[in-house]
Amino acid sequence: MTKETQPTTISFQAEVAKVLDIVIHSLYSNNEIFLRELISNASDACDKLRYALLTHPELAKETGAFKIILEPNAKEKTLTITDNGIGMNKDDLINHLGTIARSGSAEFVKSLTGDKQKDMALIGQFGVGFYSAFMVADKVIVRTKKAGDTEGWLWESDGAGTFTISPDEKAKSGTAITLYLKEDAKDYLEPIRLRHLVRQYSDHISIPIELKNGELQETINSSSALWQRNKTDITPQQYKDFYHSVSHAFDEPWMTLHYKAEGAIDYTALMFCPTKPPFNLFQPDRKSGLQLYVNRVFISDDVPELMPHFLRFMTGVIDTSDLPLNVSREMLQKTPVLGKIQRGIVRRIINELKKRAEDIADYNKFWEAFGIVFKEGLYEPSDNREDIADLCRFYSTNSEELTTFADYVSRMKDGQQHIYYLTGTDLATLRINPQLEGFAARDIEVLLLTDPIDEFWVQTYTEYKGKKIVSVMHAAEDLDKIKPVHKETEKALKKSESDKLIAKMKEILAESVSDIRTTDRLTKSPIALITPAGQMSMNLERLMRAHGQQINFASERILEINPRHPLIHKLVGLLDNADMAEHLTDSIWVLYDQTLVAEGESVKDPAKFAERLSRLLMRGL
Ligand code: ADP
Ligand code: MG
Repeated sequence: MTKETQPTTISFQAEVAKVLDIVIHSLYSNNEIFLRELISNASDACDKLRYALLTHPELAKETGAFKIILEPNAKEKTLTITDNGIGMNKDDLINHLGTIARSGSAEFVKSLTGDKQKDMALIGQFGVGFYSAFMVADKVIVRTKKAGDTEGWLWESDGAGTFTISPDEKAKSGTAITLYLKEDAKDYLEPIRLRHLVRQYSDHISIPIELKNGELQETINSSSALWQRNKTDITPQQYKDFYHSVSHAFDEPWMTLHYKAEGAIDYTALMFCPTKPPFNLFQPDRKSGLQLYVNRVFISDDVPELMPHFLRFMTGVIDTSDLPLNVSREMLQKTPVLGKIQRGIVRRIINELKKRAEDIADYNKFWEAFGIVFKEGLYEPSDNREDIADLCRFYSTNSEELTTFADYVSRMKDGQQHIYYLTGTDLATLRINPQLEGFAARDIEVLLLTDPIDEFWVQTYTEYKGKKIVSVMHAAEDLDKIKPVHKETEKALKKSESDKLIAKMKEILAESVSDIRTTDRLTKSPIALITPAGQMSMNLERLMRAHGQQINFASERILEINPRHPLIHKLVGLLDNADMAEHLTDSIWVLYDQTLVAEGESVKDPAKFAERLSRLLMRGL
């Protein structure tokens, strides 16, 4: 070998090494998916070249008609998958077959636990793509030449940490992937098995897939677009296989929606809602899961105009005849066709969800998986907002079960005008939040909202069917109008007593709160902190800090005291006792700090807090 042809050895990116490890050791029971993944890549490569030909017709010289060839070699125990698509240059090989560039993949791979069962479920949400080749092969060789290039390349790896790249004079335009099959994967040499797998997973691929069996070469896919067939001719298993193939997933589709729309715009939709959320649902640059076809020809799988953000978990295919085949990215952005299709599919999905919502247990599965995304639909103004609101589910103080706006309204008390909610980071803490006491005393239900998005939609979706949606923090006046259900037995402080206590507390907590006042809303807790209307809620403030946002000014908190609480009475008792001045100050501080802690905040000065607490304990013991 001369110097120039020495292979370069390169390490896989750490994430790839980890994925490979799981793929090789854990995913094995599903190993047949390698074929659909490699065929899908081959088909993508042909689509990319077809697209490039629109602007660079000279590239056509090298390529004949697009095709994908499967070639088992029983003697060598290899299976080769060849395409005459776009091919890869050296950089492509390093970037695409050595790293995982998809958004969010690094964080995702970090979340893999090392526990086989759990990782398998997770990696199913991820889709292992090219790397699935190593489930069946202990060596993989890729020979490839990029369309328009003169240089070809040979990539080789055993999947154990590194790969090599060297120039390859014999590489033809396109890509040939040769798998050196593992001992127990030899059945992938059998034409029958290959034919069967292609039928099952790749039948709809529009490019002919040919099986080369010695001298014989036959086309083994029908290229028939499943979505163009009649519903009655499609079995549930075929739908499921197709779902797996378009979304690279392993789970069952939770919902399958297949219809032809005719009228202003003609299109066929075959859409799926997964059971499990894909790993990257919250990546801002994630592609939508819907593929756009024009008359059965694949156009793009990155068409944000097709699906609104809050339904981005849907996957599948939209095929229309109302766009030209050579539609460009710019045209896709401008054409009104996609907007019309979007409106159509959103209506269909909403109607289907309404039907599915009748089975509560089943619908709750959907909600647990995608509710957090779906609620984004409340945030944006749209024609469908009322329907979206009706499809939303919330936890509340009424029970442990999820509830709807409509059910909440049906349970509203006489004199109750608004829908109340409280936001926070977790249900258990919310359920014991002192803010709820006055509502509990009046038997008024409160929605408990724990998703970050809740902080945002409550600001724009402020009314459900004429009922305002109001934070419990801003409901003091409302509550005063409704009598508590249970008579409060404890006696309230006299005005003079509470005035005096408040004056003392203001002196001590001057820097920490903006105001101190009594309230009738508390029943069990001595004090509570609230944010005045129009200010950022404490939960939102925490969220923003957690996301690294600088908050220059904290919202002004108001401290409310419960004039019936025995502890508050005790404090009043200490007011005129000079010997107990330090004890009183300690008590007020500790009371304030522990309220912060109960809210999920941290105390400003932990050392002082500890010091005061031990002094109190000493006195108590
Ligand atoms: P994905 O298909 O989701 O991008 P894969 O792991 O399946 O992920 O493939 C990684 C990348 O490798 C592809 O995006 C493509 O750029 C490149 N690639 C894989 N197979 C081929 C092929 N046959 N021809 C050209 N490029 C390919
Ligand atoms: Mg792929």
